[in-house]
Amino acid sequence: MLDSKSKSLLRRNLLKWFDVNQRDLPWRKKRSPYRIWVSEIMLQQTQVATVVNYYKRFMKRFPTVKKLAAADQSEVLKLWEGLGYYRRARQMHAAAVQVVEEHGGKFPTDFESVLALPGIGKYTAGAILSISLDQKLPILEGNTIRLYARLLEMKSDPRTSANQKVLWEFAESILPAKRAGDFNQALMELGSEVCKPKTWQCEACPIQKICPTFVKGLQSTIPAKGKKIAYEDLHEAAILVSKKISGQQKWLVRVCGSDERWTGLWDFPRYQIDHQKNETQICSNLGKTLAIKTGLKAKLEVVGKPIRHAVTKYRIRLSCYEAKSVSGRLKKQSTETRWCTAGELTELPMSITGRKLVNRFL
Ligand code: SF4
Repeated sequence: MLDSKSKSLLRRNLLKWFDVNQRDLPWRKKRSPYRIWVSEIMLQQTQVATVVNYYKRFMKRFPTVKKLAAADQSEVLKLWEGLGYYRRARQMHAAAVQVVEEHGGKFPTDFESVLALPGIGKYTAGAILSISLDQKLPILEGNTIRLYARLLEMKSDPRTSANQKVLWEFAESILPAKRAGDFNQALMELGSEVCKPKTWQCEACPIQKICPTFVKGLQSTIPAKGKKIAYEDLHEAAILVSKKISGQQKWLVRVCGSDERWTGLWDFPRYQIDHQKNETQICSNLGKTLAIKTGLKAKLEVVGKPIRHAVTKYRIRLSCYEAKSVSGRLKKQSTETRWCTAGELTELPMSITGRKLVNRFL
């Protein structure tokens, strides 16, 4: 742990550094709990540069929590399309509804009430209230975990629950009496821009003087690496089923159900492929699956090269098939299904690979 003199230097130097070096970001202009909440949710697992335009569009359409609560979930998902981790958008919409129902449309300002909202954990609640209202609440996320671990010369894995407890206590112990919001942002900014995982810039660091990791040259070993993610390879097929309806070419799409990867987003019929089989067998099996699931019969032909895509721990190889000579009647499906023109598909919130297929083939 740092002594009190080092902590004072940390607060002073970090705030001074932030005053000069903070990035000009749209959510820093007007800091209301609602605006900071939206930015914090978007920034989870996503780069700042990617978030900026999504944030601006989102705030333009939903400037208040009431407007967000009143929207259809599909419109929220459409604005989120391409940002990934769609659960965040669904939970945010649910939380907005809860704010309207339980708090009269005013975003709560006490820690427990904020923490009780869907999709908000201890870090996000602390970030929202400290950044928007200067409440003295600690934060701990990816960048600050690395920064604190280096300041504490923590040699073991900082993600263990014992070490998380130490880091939360440290985060609390360094908070200044005033400007807690700026201080927390400064910590995150220093972690992301200076105290980087592999390309740390200690020569530009305002707290180099109190950093034992710098003094001992341990940056490459702190923080200790956690367990590697065990990736799972999946081979899937998307089927472009189309027919002429009232003189217009339309494609069959469906909403992904609550137990599926892209819940609430639209996608083409999609099935697993047994990669042990050859292409003729795969086409035949997929044709049978399509008939069982939808009632539609068709001859399938592979089109284009597979799309490769990673989602959480899955590495997906998605092959695309075109359904020819479609016959039969569409059975009632477990989730909403539509025949859409290419134009209508641009309006729907689609899975990332579904959108790629639209852009590539339609
Ligand atoms: Fe990180 Fe280097 Fe600064 Fe220490 S001196 S906090 S290792 S950037």
